[in-house]
Amino acid sequence: MNAGPWLSVPPPGYGGIENVVATLVPELRRLGVRVVLASVAASTLEVDERMSVFDDGQFHALQRPYNQVCGIAQAHLGGVVRALRAREDIDLVHDHVEAVGLATLAAMGPDGPPVLHTLHWDLGKHPDLYGHLDGGDRVRVNGVSVAQLARAPEALRAHSVGHVHLATPLAVDAHRRAPVERGDHVVILGRINPGKGQDVGARLAQRAGFRLVLAGPVGPYHRPEDLAAAGDQARQNPDVRFWYERVAPHVDGDRVRWVGTVAGRDRDDLVAGARATLFPLRWEEPGGTAVVESLALGTPVVATARGCLPELISHGRTGLLAGDEEELADLLVAASLIEPDECRREAASRFTPEVMARRYVELYDQVRQLSAPVLKLA
Ligand code: UDP
Repeated sequence: MNAGPWLSVPPPGYGGIENVVATLVPELRRLGVRVVLASVAASTLEVDERMSVFDDGQFHALQRPYNQVCGIAQAHLGGVVRALRAREDIDLVHDHVEAVGLATLAAMGPDGPPVLHTLHWDLGKHPDLYGHLDGGDRVRVNGVSVAQLARAPEALRAHSVGHVHLATPLAVDAHRRAPVERGDHVVILGRINPGKGQDVGARLAQRAGFRLVLAGPVGPYHRPEDLAAAGDQARQNPDVRFWYERVAPHVDGDRVRWVGTVAGRDRDDLVAGARATLFPLRWEEPGGTAVVESLALGTPVVATARGCLPELISHGRTGLLAGDEEELADLLVAASLIEPDECRREAASRFTPEVMARRYVELYDQVRQLSAPVLKLA
């Protein structure tokens, strides 16, 4: 299970991919799969074996210029390849490392192990890599939604074995959890970034007069005081620029607040106590971890109908989907008509770790069969 060098597993707070790995691995082990985790040494997830190149997560370096970033991913993958060459008992690599994981494992050629590479991101991002991918019979990919794969370049789609929706541990027994008391705030949970549209949400909150809490990192900065202390050089980061230029002007610390990254119980309480989670998207959201988490916590989702949202949310039953920004504010008012129990039941039936792990085990079997040499009978 290659989780990459960016964050420890489970992640300390924000961490979509690392959360998926932390959710998937315990279920796989329950189903009898032995798991070797390739991550950073600080990871605490219980596994059968582990390997790492870096001691700690390298997330802080992720948005530096290319020349400073690419060596980190390559150093990690170099360690993975050395480990794979040194042993013969790895039946399959499940890889989660954007671009570099796929390219490096494909470059191992016919001697390498079968690979399932999960595409967690927008597939318009790497046209050169995806447009010319040749993983032979050995390297396959899966998406995290139908909508995401539909946008994939042809060569990438040729390697696809389908999609697996994301899951959250919060979905286990979600339908049995006691309801929590609701506040009157709306929450946007996620990286602060143009695609996630926090500027749209903050503008709407000021115009329509609802209380909005923004939770999540701005670039590598997890707390408002860290961003403030970083000074002007932090503006080299595009998400920091987006924050200062487009979001911060609407953040008054009262109607609209930024609380930084929230984790664990604080995150769950913030979402469970909200009257809705808002996804004012400007991009095609590929997998939507925060969407399924919201359902598991019984909080209706109000979102722009982009990317995976129409697959995850049943309009009128578990959330409300808008065609454009103008509609979002009206739908937030209507969110009180959505039954929290209906949201929890949906999560408990569709987005549990067990549902996700069973689907991945099917795909592992499929990938291994597809990569097995055809035996010719004499
Ligand atoms: N998250 C968190 N604290 C925050 C903001 C986000 O724990 O302050 C988590 C969130 O609960 C989710 C993940 O980070 O599990 C974000 O994943 P998502 O797929 O929504 O976004 P992306 O991977 O595109 O950043």
